[in-house]
Amino acid sequence: MGTRPLLNRRLAGMGSTIFAEMSALAVATGSINLGQGFPDTDGPREIAEAAARAVLDGRGNQYPPGPGIPELRAAVAEHQRRFYGLSYDPDTEVLVTAGATEAIAAALLALLEPGDEVIALEPFYDSYAACIAMAGATRVPLTLRAPGFRPDLDELRALITPRTRLLLVNTPHNPTGTVLTPDELRGIAELACAHDLLVITDEVYEHLVFAGAHHPIAALPGMRERTVNISSAGKTFSFTGWKVGWVAGAPELVAAVRTAKQYLTFVSAGPFQYAVADALRLPDAYFDTLRADHLRKRDLLAEGLVAAGFEVFRPQGTYFITTDITPLGETDGLEFCRKLPERCGVVAIPNVVFYDDTEAGRSQVRWAFCKRDDVLAEAVARLRRL
Ligand code: PMP
Ligand code: GLN
Repeated sequence: MGTRPLLNRRLAGMGSTIFAEMSALAVATGSINLGQGFPDTDGPREIAEAAARAVLDGRGNQYPPGPGIPELRAAVAEHQRRFYGLSYDPDTEVLVTAGATEAIAAALLALLEPGDEVIALEPFYDSYAACIAMAGATRVPLTLRAPGFRPDLDELRALITPRTRLLLVNTPHNPTGTVLTPDELRGIAELACAHDLLVITDEVYEHLVFAGAHHPIAALPGMRERTVNISSAGKTFSFTGWKVGWVAGAPELVAAVRTAKQYLTFVSAGPFQYAVADALRLPDAYFDTLRADHLRKRDLLAEGLVAAGFEVFRPQGTYFITTDITPLGETDGLEFCRKLPERCGVVAIPNVVFYDDTEAGRSQVRWAFCKRDDVLAEAVARLRRL
């Protein structure tokens, strides 16, 4: 095989994801896992039953249609209208994917040429960097800095070059918990229109907003035709293992994403698609309770982290809290997270892995609060021993 590295140079250094590493560490040490973002309680029983029924009734057990089953595409379109007043044609403007992860991958692979630049909010969710690299494009970070983690629109303007093809926006933002304000979204949209840029927007935490409200950028003037709107069922319905996601956008954009998607998985999650169609039609009370429960959990964990001595950046959305470990006399988040299980039996995520500007993220650590209240209370009790 010679001396050439097996892993191609676009993926060199990407190794295994921080979520896999930290979840394995949690299992190996029997620690409380506040690292990888998944709930420790499954979503609604009736939705799980709908999935089981679909399997037993033989719905979706064979390849579903490439764009997704019509019932789910209709439910996604209804959801966008119900919550945001956005109308999409379920046949030409909605595409079902294997989670938001595949939607992001397919969109980037479809829309980018080698050499293109993609501006993304840093710290960035790990799959963005990998997929931009696989597309042969270059990521350009717009860094959100502590303590506010707001995007600086003058900085964004200065980052745009003739090679910029696309803005990759994530709101609510993982890991900082920033929810972009209407003014910020307007500023980003104006720049996208002025420079004729495409926008991919990752909105998987759309129903976990505690301050302000979630606003899809696609609703702003001039944005519908240039925006690929991505979300998924994982966070909203607490079934992260089902991997049902979707794309909504203008027909030309969705057709391009579909072209890439059909050669990634072709299709996935047949029976789960039926259940997610039901889930998207749950009454408002479901979505209100989800938000209220997570708000309570956020405050429970935030207060515990303050009591344990961390600097806490209270998130406006998502189910993560970013903290700074400097007040504990620590400086290196990666080392801190690797030792935390043996020190006190808790696992967290070092935000530095989401930064190119490693100095900006070195001392930040992220904690997931999508866990039972008693688990959060126990984690907090352990952290107070630090
Ligand atoms: N985007 C963000 C910001 C995420 O945090 C995650 C992880 N849940 C994803 C995308 C991936 O979503 P999915 O599990 O639906 O693929
Ligand atoms: N989105 C989840 C997080 O940020 C993890 C998903 C994954 O493991 N890839 O924790």
